[in-house]
Amino acid sequence: MPLLLTRFFDDPIFKDTILTQLIKTSDDVRVFIVGAGPGDPGLLTLKAAACLQKADVVVYDRLVSDDILAMVPEHAEKIFAGKAARDHFMPQGEINQTLVDLARLDKTVVRLKGGDPFIFGRGSEEALFLAEHDIDFEIVPGITASAGCGAYAGIPLTHRGYVTGVRFVTGHCRAGQHLDLNWKSLADPNTTLVIYMGLINILKISDELIKAGLPADMPAAAIERGTTPDQRTIVTTLKGLPACIERADLKAPSLLIIGRVVELSETIAWHTQAHECLMDDDGSA
Ligand code: SAH
Repeated sequence: MPLLLTRFFDDPIFKDTILTQLIKTSDDVRVFIVGAGPGDPGLLTLKAAACLQKADVVVYDRLVSDDILAMVPEHAEKIFAGKAARDHFMPQGEINQTLVDLARLDKTVVRLKGGDPFIFGRGSEEALFLAEHDIDFEIVPGITASAGCGAYAGIPLTHRGYVTGVRFVTGHCRAGQHLDLNWKSLADPNTTLVIYMGLINILKISDELIKAGLPADMPAAAIERGTTPDQRTIVTTLKGLPACIERADLKAPSLLIIGRVVELSETIAWHTQAHECLMDDDGSA
């Protein structure tokens, strides 16, 4: 763990003030379902940091960054429950049962998830299972990828005069099933679309949205490993997204943002500049 953070956690102000006074948690609570944010450890909430300090066991996902894992105290056991799309390391049922089993051993368990546990995070499935088994739990929200990536790429998800709303959509479906979204309702130029897990189906997403009436030249961005030092942002058009993603060889985790607000990144990106990907007339990058 970076020296500064070690000192912070050992500091009496953190231990006495933040841990015990500011962050009140009941002693009956066995499981904390905690959002770790999108990667930058600075985006972890104080409550999440306090939970980590209390943990006997941390059950963490693939998306939790190494910098955040380094904040898990040495006394805590770490269990990897990583999940990659179509490559489940620990099936969800097994994760649920592990949480219950650990809680019944009277352990304080932190279930640490990338971003926010309730946004495409299955935190609610775990909470339902815990509730069914009479285990006390708390949910600690985290900064979801769209808030983190939007901020760090200089793309406000809403901006007065540009859009009137934002929609969070999954671009992934269960293995073997077709992505079946209501494209007509999504193709609204006054709404920012944020697509999680969209890389695999990007060709279909771009084609269907254009067919449903969203302009092919609608600004669009793809952000890989947002909020980390390795963040890469590509800015192009809705039509250009598939070829630009392929050319840049973007990998997961990557987030797609489609909408007029993407234009603003040119002026207000501050963390890393976006790479503009220009298209040929035939649609190739
Ligand atoms: N609960 C998480 C989302 C889990 S779904 C949250 O609230 O952020 C996993 C998807 O989130 C990834 O496929 C990607 O689309 C997105 N994602 C998570 N972290 C990201 C990051 N640092 N940069 C870009 N996309 C990210």
